[in-house]
Amino acid sequence: MGRKKNTPSDRRFMMAHVVRTERISPNFVRLTLGGLDGLEARGDDHWCRLFFARQGQDVLQLPTRTTEIGWYLQYLATPKTRRPWVRAYTLRDARPDVGEVDIDFVIHGEQSGSIGPAAQFALDARPGDRIGFLDQGSAFTPDHPHDWTLLIGDETALPAIAGICRSLREDARGRAIIEIPTASDRQEFSAPAGVEVDWIVRDQSTQADGRPGELALRALTTATLPDGVVHAHAIGESKLATGARRYLVQEREVPKRNVDFVGYWRHGRPATS
Ligand SMILES: Cc1cc2nc3c(=O)[nH]c(=O)nc-3n(C[C@H](O)[C@H](O)[C@H](O)COP(=O)(O)OP(=O)(O)OC[C@H]3O[C@@H](n4cnc5c(N)ncnc54)[C@H](O)[C@@H]3O)c2cc1C
Repeated sequence: MGRKKNTPSDRRFMMAHVVRTERISPNFVRLTLGGLDGLEARGDDHWCRLFFARQGQDVLQLPTRTTEIGWYLQYLATPKTRRPWVRAYTLRDARPDVGEVDIDFVIHGEQSGSIGPAAQFALDARPGDRIGFLDQGSAFTPDHPHDWTLLIGDETALPAIAGICRSLREDARGRAIIEIPTASDRQEFSAPAGVEVDWIVRDQSTQADGRPGELALRALTTATLPDGVVHAHAIGESKLATGARRYLVQEREVPKRNVDFVGYWRHGRPATS
């Protein structure tokens, strides 16, 4: 995840609970999670790991080790029947004063029946449901001088791009390219006046082939980009993230260190845990 992380000082597993659920648009469910006392809000693309019970599990068993490697080894050593599901999500909003966060889940595969356990959890969630929470800090930490910021992602990156835009300096310049499934999935968020946000709507395009991220990548390759040194952050479906980086480095001669990229998910492959 990026070069340098803005990681939490107090890393611990927290047992959160669902406070509210809301279908905010055709392809997003927002869960408000509570019980996160002591959480520090970091802004930018602050993300977490969420742990939730598999079907038939009455007890949500969370790891006790908290180092990055330690918890995962402990998790892998736990028989599958007792392990929870684990998935990565961005904090769309955080209210540390009341120990709450909002998480926007993309609901994918609802029609095709190939929905993943995290999306299903979000769909079925009821107030009071328990969910494990591990703070991961933020990954957007450009550590080199730059004149403008490029953000590109699919719908899973919308919460991160919104958080980064909200955290940028008021005089920042930049461009955000966000691909979303339908026009109704667009969200308002605050961004500096110098940051232009381009929404690419999949179901309005005749060129979409079903793989999220393709259209955003195409938009990047035809975009007129601002002058000056860029810091780019490419996130979302893995081919979008790697493709954007390859394009910027090979075709626009952007130095590799100026491009961070994170594959959030892989088309056709479930997350590994
Ligand atoms: C740092 C980080 C932050 C993230 N933040 C968010 C966030 O805020 N909101 C969010 O919705 N996601 C976010 N993601 C992506 C999310 O973790 C993945 O989409 C995850 O795989 C969803 O888990 P699942 O159990 O629903 O599906 P899985 O069990 O992982 O996958 C089941 C099937 O669904 C497919 N699939 C998975 N995700 C999608 C998708 N979005 N669209 C279409 N098909 C999909 C897989 O390819 C697979 O075929 C983030 C990922 C990372 C690494």
